[in-house]
Amino acid sequence: IFPAEQSSPKLASQGRNLKAVLCQRCGSRVLLPGAATFTCRELLLPAMRKKATATDGGDGDGDVVREHWLVRDMFSFENVGFTRDVGNIKFLVCADCEAGPIGWHCLDDKDSFYVALERVAHE
Ligand SMILES: [Zn+2]
Repeated sequence: IFPAEQSSPKLASQGRNLKAVLCQRCGSRVLLPGAATFTCRELLLPAMRKKATATDGGDGDGDVVREHWLVRDMFSFENVGFTRDVGNIKFLVCADCEAGPIGWHCLDDKDSFYVALERVAHE
């Protein structure tokens, strides 16, 4: 019914990530293979910046990202950092170099962590 949501990228097998998910900048490992499931959801992520501690919001630029790895348990992450809450949203950043945001988490849904495919590397 929704073919776009049924199709997984080549990076996935049976809906799970085939490869480890790494920080694009420093190569820090974020997720092990198989730790996440592919999902489509439109989420607005602020533009990538080097330091997550830099000014939050205000400039209004960002990207709508549709393809994500969905993680159901925070302890499935190898390494991940979070920004300060922005409303009830936290953004995921690299735990080592703070590159990001690489993902999205809403405090209203504590069991859903989204990692944007286009903002991470796969190995
Ligand atoms: Zn990094």
